[in-house]
Amino acid sequence: MNKPLIISVENLIKKYDDFEAVKGISFEVHEGEIFGLLGPNGAGKTTTLEIMETLRDKTSGKISIGGYDLDQSPNEIKHIIGVQLQAAGYYPNLNLIELIDLFSGLYGIKVNALELLRKVSLTEKAKAKYKELSGGQKQRFSIATTLINQPKIIFLDEPTTGLDPQARRNLWDLILEIRATGTTIVLTTHYMDEAEVLCDRVAFIDNGQIIGINSPDQFVDDLVASGFERKKEVKKANLEDVFISLTGKDLRES
Ligand code: ATP
Repeated sequence: MNKPLIISVENLIKKYDDFEAVKGISFEVHEGEIFGLLGPNGAGKTTTLEIMETLRDKTSGKISIGGYDLDQSPNEIKHIIGVQLQAAGYYPNLNLIELIDLFSGLYGIKVNALELLRKVSLTEKAKAKYKELSGGQKQRFSIATTLINQPKIIFLDEPTTGLDPQARRNLWDLILEIRATGTTIVLTTHYMDEAEVLCDRVAFIDNGQIIGINSPDQFVDDLVASGFERKKEVKKANLEDVFISLTGKDLRES
């Protein structure tokens, strides 16, 4: 049986002046799901995500998040969602502990900053400044900031873009751990392997419209059933397997 709905988007439209970037999309997300928004550059994924995050205004449509209507109760929604803060918000002279204390102050709550950094394997960088982190560490810190207010839902926009294969896998583990605590996750990604590993269901968006919603497994099964055949793979591994095999899968902190 499906878990209860936690997000419902009905006929969402977003216009930037005359240009309609999102053209009446509808979808639902269930509690505890990892739901992926996939599609080509410019399809409207970030626009959709940021409207749900209350960061952009919509043109029309009805959105309900955690039982709250976006038009009527945006502040209640802000309390139950976790949003990745823009890098520009990371004051350069504060270390990670100080940044978490600052952000939790903005939420009016007190969190154990070291415990939060432990969750994302950044304990050793507690006293480092944001600019001193590697790309993967920055992404993990950014995910930590989404957890400050113990949200029911977190939104991740391309969480692993630019990361090396180990760092990506490490982030996948982190995202799965967060989901295991009952948190619902909505993410965008350009990596189909990532969507296959992480997402319970994905929506393909193209040109502002949803062209399919299903589980990755079902999408693949349906394609195969339609007669699709992939060119035979002759090798049993690829260069990414070599990378992981040579360098190991463990997290590098340096
Ligand atoms: P990508 O995969 O490249 O991140 P996306 O699917 O997230 O793309 P969006 O960023 O939502 O796409 O953009 C959808 C469309 O809306 C694009 O054509 C983009 O140029 C346009 N757009 C986005 N933001 C604005 C804005 N602030 N003003 C005008 N047009 C915008």
